[in-house]
Amino acid sequence: MFKIKPLNLGELLGMELSRFTYERDWGEKVNAPVLAYLVQNGERNILVDTGMSSSYFARNYYEPLNKESEHEMDFILKSHGLEATDIDTVIWTHLHWDHCQNAELFKNATFFVQKKEIEYAMNPLPLHRRPYEVGGGGQQPEWIKMMDKIKVIDGNQEITKGIDVVVTPGHSPGFQSVSIKGYNDNYLIVGDTVPLKRNWDPNPAKYIPGGIHVDLKDCYFSHSQLLKYSDSSTFLYGHDYSILEKPVYE
Ligand SMILES: [Zn+2]
Repeated sequence: MFKIKPLNLGELLGMELSRFTYERDWGEKVNAPVLAYLVQNGERNILVDTGMSSSYFARNYYEPLNKESEHEMDFILKSHGLEATDIDTVIWTHLHWDHCQNAELFKNATFFVQKKEIEYAMNPLPLHRRPYEVGGGGQQPEWIKMMDKIKVIDGNQEITKGIDVVVTPGHSPGFQSVSIKGYNDNYLIVGDTVPLKRNWDPNPAKYIPGGIHVDLKDCYFSHSQLLKYSDSSTFLYGHDYSILEKPVYE
């Protein structure tokens, strides 16, 4: 059993809300935290996503950004009594820039990512080249440098007892949600599959797919997968401030 601590890696300010809520809310602006999760059981220190760094790319990808020293991964881990080298496992939900930067900090970690996600990240559609940091002046995504530490997985899989990944594509081709047994409750880190609480409804007709997606049919397939968990698990959404209201989920 594990405790889950949400980490705030910074904020996207004045984000167009319809980027989260497909075909709704045009012209409305919101701020959105960039979240990662520290998952611990006293022995293991696991990260789900590694957030955005302060790299030139991060600072220029999205404007305006609130990225202060308190949002730096090193600083955050220190506040939890950890060094980056204490992290033994990283599970990347997907390989968009704001979920997989800071990778080089984790020198002792094994990185888990879906095969379909790696394949797409190597050769995304032109529209998606930027979020995957592909092309443009020799830019290289950090995850490529971690190749020898990456474990490519294909489909649903147990990572360790109490933690399973569940494939929920749509936002990206190889997106994986992370199911975690807590001490009192079960959790599903749905991440960008359900970016805001507002997106989720068990009724598919009322569910709002994320505005950023590669395949709308996959979004509805993933909705059917999430339904298997929605009664028994608390969802942890991708960019929703409400997640940060609790320092620990257990
Ligand atoms: Zn994403």
